[in-house]
Amino acid sequence: MVEGQLRDREISDTRVLAAMGRVPREVFLPPEWHGRAYDDAALPIGEGQTMSQPYMVARICEELALTGREHVLDVGTGSGYQAAVLAELVERVETIERIPALAERARSSLREAGYDRVRVHVGDGTLGLPEEAPFDAIAVAAAASGIPPQLYEQLKPRGRLVIPIGKRRVQRLQVVVRSPEGPAVLRTVPCRFVPLVGEGGFG
Ligand code: SAH
Repeated sequence: MVEGQLRDREISDTRVLAAMGRVPREVFLPPEWHGRAYDDAALPIGEGQTMSQPYMVARICEELALTGREHVLDVGTGSGYQAAVLAELVERVETIERIPALAERARSSLREAGYDRVRVHVGDGTLGLPEEAPFDAIAVAAAASGIPPQLYEQLKPRGRLVIPIGKRRVQRLQVVVRSPEGPAVLRTVPCRFVPLVGEGGFG
């Protein structure tokens, strides 16, 4: 997976590559999908949601430009896999999921894989997590039509938000940097995520 799906597609941050090599992806999947855990695809996790494709998880982590000491918010916990990869890369990870059953399952998968440090919250992640803000970085694993203002507001100065922005069926991963002049936005790879549902999402 690391060689064929990530390194060959220009994921070059060695810390991200190592983190992706360490997290056991199958722990975050329903048993019937264990055999497909390292496929180059998003995989079903129940409740109509998916675990992101490994390449997209790596791309998001790389675009966040993490160095190790950060406090990060992960919006759209889903299986908990992205949160586990982030936990390999930084000091503190908060993750938020709107579907309680998924949050509960992610909590137990994270525990099983040894990532008890990750704190799983239930709620509308488009509103961020004001009680834990500000964040050095925010990763969003669901698509929105625009930048949710509360997420931008909860970034530290020079903090980074990575989020798929576009239409319901196709988006582009955007990197938003909080700067004194306002949001500095960089558009990167095309992508296809499940919709972000909530006040600052697709409604
Ligand atoms: N990072 C996850 C990807 C999960 S898919 C993984 O690695 O498995 C995106 C998730 O975002 C879904 O579980 C969906 O329920 C959740 N989601 C959608 N809108 C949300 C919102 N407003 N707040 C929190 N979670 C949300």
